[in-house]
Amino acid sequence: MAKLYFRYGAMNSGKSTALLQAAYNYEERGQAVLLAKPEIDTKGADQIASRLGVTRTVDFLVPADGDVRDLFEAHRARVRREASDALIPGDRPADVACLLIDEAQFLTPQQVDDVFRIAVLDGIPVMAYGIRTDFRTLAFPGSRRLLEIAHSLEELKTICRCGRKALFNGRRISGRFVFDGDQVAIDAEGAAVRDEHFVTYESLCGVCYVEESGDLLTPA
Ligand SMILES: [Zn+2]
Repeated sequence: MAKLYFRYGAMNSGKSTALLQAAYNYEERGQAVLLAKPEIDTKGADQIASRLGVTRTVDFLVPADGDVRDLFEAHRARVRREASDALIPGDRPADVACLLIDEAQFLTPQQVDDVFRIAVLDGIPVMAYGIRTDFRTLAFPGSRRLLEIAHSLEELKTICRCGRKALFNGRRISGRFVFDGDQVAIDAEGAAVRDEHFVTYESLCGVCYVEESGDLLTPA
C-alpha cells in the first residue's frame, strides 16, 4: 500500500535539498516523479530551490482552493500519455512513482486529506516536506493535519546558533525578533535592499526561543 510521508523540520533543515535528492533517486532508477508546491509561497514562485544551489521547476502549483487530486490526476495522465507515445516501447516511465510536495505547511487541511487519498486510493506514495510550526510556535493548519494523518513522520534536523537542535523558527523584521503578526510573511525577492521591513527567519532551539521571546510560549 502506498503511504503519505511527512518530513518536517525547522527553517534551513534541508527540506528542499532532501526533496530534490529523493526526486533524483527515483529518476536515476528510470522512474517518474511529479513535483508540486502550494501557490502561496511567492518566494521562488514555481521553483524548488536547495540552498546548496540546485533548483528545479515544479510540475504544478496548488492554488489555495485547488483540488490537489484533480491536478495530480491531470499530470499523471500526461506521464502515461508520454509513455504510450514513446517511439521505443518502455522508453519512458509508464506511471508516476511518487508525488513530492514542497512547503507542505501551506496546504489546507482539506488538501492534506486529498494527498492522503492519492496515497491510499490512487496507490501513489506522497512525500510532503514542510515546517511544523510558525514563528509563534503554533502549527500551520496543513502541518497539523499532516501530523494527524501521515503514515510516516520524519524530522529533518538542523542546529541553532548555540549548537543545540533547532525546534522553532524565529522571525526577524529588519533584524529584530518579533513574536506577533500574520502567520505567513515571506521575504519577497530583493526585499532586503529596498524594504525596511525585511523579514528573515532563524532556526532556534527551545532555550534560545524562550530567551528571545521573553518566555512567550503560548501566544495570545
Ligand atoms: Zn539555541
